[in-house]
Amino acid sequence: MLEIGDAQAVVFGYVDDATQADKVKFTNYVSGSACSNCALFQGEAGDVAGGCPLFVGKHVAAKGWCTSWAKKA
Ligand code: SF4
Repeated sequence: MLEIGDAQAVVFGYVDDATQADKVKFTNYVSGSACSNCALFQGEAGDVAGGCPLFVGKHVAAKGWCTSWAKKA
C-alpha cells in the first residue's frame, strides 16, 4: 500500500481518505471524488485498494485521493 508519508505521495497530495484532502491547498478538489471513481484507478468496483499508474508497484486506497484525480468516464 502507498503510505501517505511516501515522498511521491506527498508530491501528489495523496491521502488515503479523500475527506482528509487539503481542500484549501488543492483547489481542484471535487466533492465526492476518490480513487474509486478516478479514471486512473486500476482496481475493480468494490475493491478497497488498487493500482494507480502514478504509483507503480503500490496500491492506493479506493477511498483515497490525489491532485491528479480525473473523473472516470
Ligand atoms: S490518480 Fe486517481 S487513482 Fe491515482 S492516487 Fe490519484 S486519485 Fe487515486
